[in-house]
Amino acid sequence: MSWMAKLHAFLREDQVSTSRAVLENHSRGESYDEAVLPEVVVFAESTEDVAHVLELADGEGVAVTPVAANSSLEGHTVPLCGGISLDLTRLDRILEFRSDDLLIVAQAGVTYPKINDYVRRNGLFFPVDPGAHASLGGMIATNASGTAAVRYGVTADYVLALEVVIPPGTVIRTGSRARKSSSGYNLTRMFCGAEGTLGVVTEVTLRLVGLPEAASAARVPFPSAELATRFVTSVIQAGIPVARCELIDPTSIRAVNAHQGTSYPEEMTIFLEFHGNYDGIRADMLLAEEIARDMSALAFEASSDPEQRARLWEARHNMFYAAVAANPGKHSFVTDVAVPISRLPEAVTRALQVCRQEDLDAYLVGHVGDGNFHLAIFFDDDVESLARVMRVNSSIVEHALTLGGTATGEHGVGVRKLAYMEVEHGASLEVMRRIKRLLDPKGILNPGKKIPG
Ligand SMILES: Cc1cc2nc3c(=O)[nH]c(=O)nc-3n(C[C@H](O)[C@H](O)[C@H](O)COP(=O)(O)OP(=O)(O)OC[C@H]3O[C@@H](n4cnc5c(N)ncnc54)[C@H](O)[C@@H]3O)c2cc1C
Repeated sequence: MSWMAKLHAFLREDQVSTSRAVLENHSRGESYDEAVLPEVVVFAESTEDVAHVLELADGEGVAVTPVAANSSLEGHTVPLCGGISLDLTRLDRILEFRSDDLLIVAQAGVTYPKINDYVRRNGLFFPVDPGAHASLGGMIATNASGTAAVRYGVTADYVLALEVVIPPGTVIRTGSRARKSSSGYNLTRMFCGAEGTLGVVTEVTLRLVGLPEAASAARVPFPSAELATRFVTSVIQAGIPVARCELIDPTSIRAVNAHQGTSYPEEMTIFLEFHGNYDGIRADMLLAEEIARDMSALAFEASSDPEQRARLWEARHNMFYAAVAANPGKHSFVTDVAVPISRLPEAVTRALQVCRQEDLDAYLVGHVGDGNFHLAIFFDDDVESLARVMRVNSSIVEHALTLGGTATGEHGVGVRKLAYMEVEHGASLEVMRRIKRLLDPKGILNPGKKIPG
């Protein structure tokens, strides 16, 4: 019996698809154009389904590419070796919510907005917000973060325990419900950022935090990237628990003004958000304003009123759509590196300079409190333009590595960052390869991603 026929033996008809439209839907990820069709898409609905699929695939030597919301940006979900695209979006049930223990247990296909809708009424939230409607499994596999990481950390910081299926279909549990532990090797953390190459996460126990009583926001334009990033470093060094801290450049603000009909000053601008109680955030804002004046800020506009707060952050929220509108018909490519925060000004300045040299339109957005920044680069659909974008990307990554940074702050390695792993990890890469061989000896899980060779 063929492996395809064996799949049909233990799954319902509507869980297995070879329709052209479904295969194409699973052939590439967001912002990654090189598509490869899987031979079949399997929609798992339980841990048992995942275990059966891995047992079969391991026995038959068939590649398995896990995929959920498919919003990852570096080609993570392209089934490079064909085989099975294992769609996890139907693992979408919240299993247990224990507000007293500040934790929730959910299947891996549940999205993070669904978790927040569920727990908000109890005054709790899961503060990692990568923007797209990402799944918990995808966020764990990329160790996603977002605008609030400066205050709340990254996905791995919230994962207490996991249920994972490893080849050949063995179900293991890592971690516990305790909020801290020194027991055993930290396998939970190992699966965070593994990009589906070590196991398939089926169940997640997440730590939650209390919703802040109050929030306020500020918009602070500066005459240069240098001053803007120095301001951020000073705010953090002063111990102000800023909740979000984003930088966008004059080109992005110009695009927002053109798109929205607004007239924000076209300067390097820091967007801040503070969370806490009313007295605390008032004190935080006053201190931040004082630091801003010392750093030659051109203004400090702030508000605690929810509507005005939203208006202050409008330019940041609409930036990507405004940039898309300013570049009709063009492709976009998003870079992602992180450097020590003191090196951020030179990393940003050089990245923008390289784009100018290559004559590319680039829009800067930085999660500056973490030293993490992105350029959204727009380019024409031809080989020469793509080559220029790739040169810029390489230059930005190589510079980040020379500054003591990393090739990816939050988007992950996927396919596009493989070339930098040797330089970034050196001899540790061999240890990573051994871990991969131990957990997945036949190399069936998401082959061609995360680590080279
Ligand atoms: C507009 C936009 C904005 C974004 N902003 C951010 C941002 O601010 N911060 C950020 O970090 N990311 C951001 N991203 C990237 C993306 O949203 C994240 O990488 C997200 O974590 C991917 O989740 P997903 O469910 O879409 O995973 P997918 O794209 O489906 O998969 C991603 C990886 O996880 C693996 N995987 C998926 N589910 C499982 C599972 N259950 N077990 C094991 N492996 C699994 C896949 O094999 C793949 O390697 C953005 C993307 C877009 C399109």
